[in-house]
Amino acid sequence: MRKIFSLLKNWVLHLLFPRVCFCCGADLARSDGNPLCPVCMKDLKPVHGLVCRRCGLPLPDGGALCRACRKKKSFNCSFIRSGFKFTRASRALAHAFKYGGYIHLSGFFAPVMYNVLRRNPEFFEADFLVPVPIHKSRRRQRGFNQSLLLARDLSRLCGVPCAELLVRKVKTRSQTSLGRRERFENIKEAFACAGADAARRRAIILIDDVCTTSATLEECARMLRKAGAREVLAITALRE
Ligand SMILES: [Zn+2]
Ligand SMILES: [Zn+2]
Repeated sequence: MRKIFSLLKNWVLHLLFPRVCFCCGADLARSDGNPLCPVCMKDLKPVHGLVCRRCGLPLPDGGALCRACRKKKSFNCSFIRSGFKFTRASRALAHAFKYGGYIHLSGFFAPVMYNVLRRNPEFFEADFLVPVPIHKSRRRQRGFNQSLLLARDLSRLCGVPCAELLVRKVKTRSQTSLGRRERFENIKEAFACAGADAARRRAIILIDDVCTTSATLEECARMLRKAGAREVLAITALRE
């Protein structure tokens, strides 16, 4: 009976909201709960295997650290891991989530991030999940902060409380068109710690949708460390 009800519900939902693959636009089967067609699902590549010990960048040829982490000796964000590699399909999903307003996709990414957390004991001592904040004018315009949605869904799965300890003071230029060094400069002093007392002596996992150069995570971690956080780590849905 429950199964019939579930099928009926899916069918009604499908009639009301025709579902197509977020990546290629193919029609999706009614019973399939995935946001992508089977072909595009295969293009979702979880990050596993050889990665940089610090930042989690996939290193197909092995080695302990990636080039950027070898160059820079000390970090505020000591450990970063991500769910999916940056592929056509994962990028399309992340884009639909962040810019298309398909906020339910948070529920697709969160379990993958939960697996990342469970696989790495480094995360086990964490006191808080802290979403990377967006500027309030951007939040008003978009209606939500994608990182907060991810942090809340992940918190429900892992039991670590979500705390909005950071605010974005400066509305920065989009990082996408910038080079590595420019990204670090663009984001500098963009954040403030709103919950300095809460951060003190805590181990914190930053949550964001995408990690590219890790400039944003590093700057957020710097503010949290300045406020006395013992350790700052990060989990992102995607790794570029
Ligand atoms: Zn597709
Ligand atoms: Zn690295």
